[in-house]
Amino acid sequence: MGSYTGLGEIAGKRVLVRSDLNVPLKDGAAGVREIGDDGRIRASVPTIRALAEAGARVVVTAHLGRPDGAPDAKYSLAPVAQRLGELLGQPVAFATDTVGPSAQETVAGLADGQIALLENVRFNPGETAKDDAVRAAFAAELAALADAFVSDGFGVVHRKQASVYDVAQLLPHAMGGLVRAEIDVLRRLTDTPERPYAVVLGGSKVSDKLGVIDNLLGKADTLLIGGGMVFTFLKAQGHEVGKSLLEEDQIPTVLEYLARAKANGVEIVLPTDIVVADSFGDEASARVVAATEIPADSVGLDIGPESGAAFGKVVEASRTVFWNGPMGVFEQPAFAEGTRAVAAALTKVEGLSVVGGGDSAAAVRALGFADDQFGHISTGGGASLEYLEGKELPGITVLES
Ligand code: ADP
Ligand code: MG
Repeated sequence: MGSYTGLGEIAGKRVLVRSDLNVPLKDGAAGVREIGDDGRIRASVPTIRALAEAGARVVVTAHLGRPDGAPDAKYSLAPVAQRLGELLGQPVAFATDTVGPSAQETVAGLADGQIALLENVRFNPGETAKDDAVRAAFAAELAALADAFVSDGFGVVHRKQASVYDVAQLLPHAMGGLVRAEIDVLRRLTDTPERPYAVVLGGSKVSDKLGVIDNLLGKADTLLIGGGMVFTFLKAQGHEVGKSLLEEDQIPTVLEYLARAKANGVEIVLPTDIVVADSFGDEASARVVAATEIPADSVGLDIGPESGAAFGKVVEASRTVFWNGPMGVFEQPAFAEGTRAVAAALTKVEGLSVVGGGDSAAAVRALGFADDQFGHISTGGGASLEYLEGKELPGITVLES
């Protein structure tokens, strides 16, 4: 739990908390929207509960999906208010607007220790406005609802948005416990990682992860490459990759990374075998081939068993491991074994093991691993990647000023 000492006595004060409650919603019975994975709501509970227990009047603001800066029933936080209340074990008053009459009335009605959730903050165009003045004006309306601000939405701290960035300039502010925990882990990955330090990267596109590779080439001992980005590396080394995912335009960058890794003494490990199929998702035709002999008419969808074992060995022997991006199309059993091998090895790391990225976190859960088998599962894919790229996170910088 973070410390809120910077805020002084919070009992009786209205504390605005920016949480990340952006959970997947699906259509349920009778057209009611139902919550899929509620992991982000669960992760937000400790900070909200701690503030309520300290006697604050807690006003939670959050977004859901990408509405167009106007109310849209599809993206209402109403079902989230319900679930949040269940998880907290106390009712959560729901305001049907962001800063309007309902928000003002709901906040005014809070007693010490009570909690309210404001409607989707992205229903107001000021939240994500590029125009600083428009954002600041909306932030002032949010700030008028509270006496202090706690930033706890790690998934949005890389965004310069009204409820993340601007509002912190208007109120006494503090880092929430969730954001503090995430930042502490990321600092351990970048400042003084215990060695050996391995980074496992996969997922769909190499272009999504270039910044991370670039920055971690100076820090990690070993970089293990899997997922769709493998094929751009293999192609760069002159191999046939068939119909596999390929980003031709990234080949020069990849070649530069391979050269720099060599110069820095960083080992880049590529898979030696690949699970291919006749077409994307065709499980019936799945078979293992050498990574250097991918047939021209096939598509690579996972790292092979030999590679899974080799990657696992490096991971297990490391004292610090950061993993982002599934090793294959884990959504289908025939292409999930590479991801399973890496996940299993990660659970055996003596030291710090971190899973980052939305799909990677979903993958370990879908494959039956429990969250507590890993040192840390990050709640914010984009934010943790930007941090590891060495970029400044506006939502963190503003809290430190
Ligand atoms: P994360 O959200 O953890 O950062 P990404 O979004 O980068 O991960 O990538 C996840 C997706 O990558 C998954 O949906 C998975 O199916 C896909 N993927 C993994 N390997 C391949 C591959 N060889 N070809 C195509 N897609 C792949
Ligand atoms: Mg993803």
